[in-house]
Amino acid sequence: MSQVSGARETAMYADMAPEEFRRFGYAVIDRVAELLAHPERVRVFPDVRPGELIAALPAGAPDEPEPFERILEDYDRLIPRATTHWNHPGFFAWFAVTGSAPGILGEILSAALNVNAMLWRSGPAATELEQVTTSWLRGLLGLPERFAGHINDTASSSTLYALAAAREAMGLEVRARGLAGRADVPSLRVYRSEEAHSSVDKAAITLGLGLSGVRAIATDADLRMDVRALEAAIAEDRAAGARPMAVVATVGTTSTTAVDPVPEIAAICERERIWLHVDGAYGGSAAVVPEHRALLAGCERADSIVVNPHKWLFVPIDCSVLFVRDVDQLRRAFSLVPEYLTTSEGDEVLNLMDLGVSLGRRFRALKLWFVLRYFGRSGIAAAIREHIRLARLFASWVDDAPDFERLAPVPLSVVLFRRRPPGLGGPALDRYNERLLDAVNATGEVFLSHTRVRGAYAIRLAVGNLRTREEHLRRAWVLLNEAVRVADLKN
Ligand code: PLP
Repeated sequence: MSQVSGARETAMYADMAPEEFRRFGYAVIDRVAELLAHPERVRVFPDVRPGELIAALPAGAPDEPEPFERILEDYDRLIPRATTHWNHPGFFAWFAVTGSAPGILGEILSAALNVNAMLWRSGPAATELEQVTTSWLRGLLGLPERFAGHINDTASSSTLYALAAAREAMGLEVRARGLAGRADVPSLRVYRSEEAHSSVDKAAITLGLGLSGVRAIATDADLRMDVRALEAAIAEDRAAGARPMAVVATVGTTSTTAVDPVPEIAAICERERIWLHVDGAYGGSAAVVPEHRALLAGCERADSIVVNPHKWLFVPIDCSVLFVRDVDQLRRAFSLVPEYLTTSEGDEVLNLMDLGVSLGRRFRALKLWFVLRYFGRSGIAAAIREHIRLARLFASWVDDAPDFERLAPVPLSVVLFRRRPPGLGGPALDRYNERLLDAVNATGEVFLSHTRVRGAYAIRLAVGNLRTREEHLRRAWVLLNEAVRVADLKN
């Protein structure tokens, strides 16, 4: 790192001088490079207590300007050690992700351009690159050309927008007249499996359906939506006077990565004229791999699909792509143009503000463009293929270990398992595995999370970081087996 002086080179109200920026810019890049080169030098899961960082920082913002050198020193001292490192190869919790180097560089440039792509005019490159990159992604996933993609912050927003479009497509004029106090609007229903992500329910809350408007459909032995149960629920609701609005099928559920039978669900939605939204936030990316292309079978018949490049496509958080079969349906739900946002380009251009709630938008397409180009189809496919291989390898160790058992199939890159010491069952078995997870996470070398599978506590290992190699998986397995001793002692 270059030597930096504490003295500011510009007036206190001016931005950093170019030379000063270069110096600190290199210093920051050095830190990024170090994190990427030696991620294992930090604990993946920090050893901090809640409130520790707050206590270490002043209660108010500084009155006077501070030298950037001191700000960086405080960053070094306080922030990495209080961070859960999602870019660490030992990160196996929730869905493991990667902020890849080309994606990080894209983030830096998009911050420098500081584009607010609400209108084509306010960000021509951001608007058109979003159209290009989402169209590339659509091609990589094998979705038909009629799907238009656009980028949101998260899958939760993408699903909310898709369901808002579904509600508008019902012809109930909810946009104009709202829902409250209307005797002419029946109860609306959204169907999702018992295993679907909570973002579906949050969308129902936001859209005025209420949680009572969400039907949780039972799953089969492999935790996939049971289509017969779906049909029965739809029939029951219609008979009771409710109106089905949308079915949300999931390709890669959050808990167990189960893949709902989309072709059969699509057939029901077509017959019943119900909007089909597919949540492929995590699993959808695997369709880039030729031998996993079938994962999105049936999605060509969906009305909308969400895939998160920030989950399994190596783009730094945040980046979620919503594909819609008819972009006008989104526009009908959201477009609202005050005078000060009208432009002379008219219908000639796409104005991204028309496709969601937020007016302002970050230039997220830049990092997606960098990542898609830097890795290419073959690089992305090879990485995802390797993650699936690693997860299956880990599953084979679990299967071969006498006191461990696997709790769900491994269609993608997540393994659910528990240790089952002889004679232990029920809540005691759950508590035992909780202790096992805590003990392994306390090492700081690996970080796993948990879920419940049909009520049973399961330790959950997700592979998804580009730097995770077989050696990291082996280490996780060794640490788990060592942690057994700790858990046994406390038994
Ligand atoms: N859908 C699925 C299947 C998920 O696993 C998740 C998060 O893990 C989400 C949606 C929500 O994603 P986001 O954090 O982008 O809102």
